[in-house]
Amino acid sequence: MGASYELVLRGGTLLDPAQGLYAPRDVAFANGRVAALAESLAGVQAAETVDVAGLLVTPGLIDLHVHVFEGVSHYGIPPDPTCLAHGVTTAVDAGSAGADTFGGFRKYVIEASATRLLAHLNISSMGMLSATIGELDELKWADVGRALQTVERHRDVILGIKVRLTRGQVVGEGVGLAPLYRAREAADAAGLPIMVHPQDAYCPSLDEILAVMKAGDILTHTFHGRQHGILDEAGKVRPAVREARERGVIFDVGHGAGSFSWRVCEAALAQSFPPETISSDLHIYNVNGPVFDLATTVSKFLHLGMELDEALRKVTAVPAQVINMADEVGTLKVGACGDAAVFALEEGAFPLTDCQGETRIGHRRLVPRLVVRGGRIYRGPEAPVLHYHH
Ligand SMILES: [Zn+2]
Repeated sequence: MGASYELVLRGGTLLDPAQGLYAPRDVAFANGRVAALAESLAGVQAAETVDVAGLLVTPGLIDLHVHVFEGVSHYGIPPDPTCLAHGVTTAVDAGSAGADTFGGFRKYVIEASATRLLAHLNISSMGMLSATIGELDELKWADVGRALQTVERHRDVILGIKVRLTRGQVVGEGVGLAPLYRAREAADAAGLPIMVHPQDAYCPSLDEILAVMKAGDILTHTFHGRQHGILDEAGKVRPAVREARERGVIFDVGHGAGSFSWRVCEAALAQSFPPETISSDLHIYNVNGPVFDLATTVSKFLHLGMELDEALRKVTAVPAQVINMADEVGTLKVGACGDAAVFALEEGAFPLTDCQGETRIGHRRLVPRLVVRGGRIYRGPEAPVLHYHH
């Protein structure tokens, strides 16, 4: 009588940019993976069937920038209630841990969470521990050798080297871009990219930072409204920014508490400079607003006129390539990991606020209604509740 599945999502609209699919599809899961897609799987045997009619079924979202070292980094929040419960099945911690703290991050967070977690290792050996001691107050904490040892021990989960250049996080004026050069040195030796937080660095403009960046490196906080932005004094996208994109530098959103400006983003989009990837930079100082979750950040791009399938591509197919997991995550191709999200695309009038406190009124928003991780419905902390029939 045909295959037997563990879970079938029935009646939804599948939006899977990696497959170019935006169409009615039933999705079946077995053995933790996507087992079948069809216009109708009515009548198949399944341990659990969920009616998701009227809802959008997507691959589980991928957030390239979060901070989930709860209890150790002052930024940390628990990943399952803030990422997984909101449709993010894969998240990358952006430098919360450094060489001194990565072992604990792996044991107590990565291995203890239902969210699939990867990380960029902070070039600072302490990582982002303290709200009062900058992670690079002492340049000696940017220890290339210890970073490399840590990469070798945890290469399966470390994707690259993170560096934050903001004054107040790094030693004084004389240090210039030394932390960036050390991150570059460690990353090159490890054969990995760097992820750079550029604003308010000790250099004249973003150009000096981009000059150090190569194909596959990630510039996060692309649309921040502070010094070292992507726009020049006339509000034009800097030539060095376009050149960096042409050579393969990835421009990521990293919304955060201080790194997303409507005005900068509107100017960039008007000049055909969209982000490659949409990420939240979710942490304790923005999870209760203005970020809330990755879906809200995506909704901001819908407000800015980005097509729904294009916005979804930037939180599924594209970041899957960035983390070298295309065909495994960020898609619901048959055989891929069984990580999916179900969203309502609500219509109404929704206030959406940036880091300058400016609010725009969006007319569509994505609201997570069901999350599937490893072929099973996530029912842990803060899981969305969908009323359904067996
Ligand atoms: Zn961050």
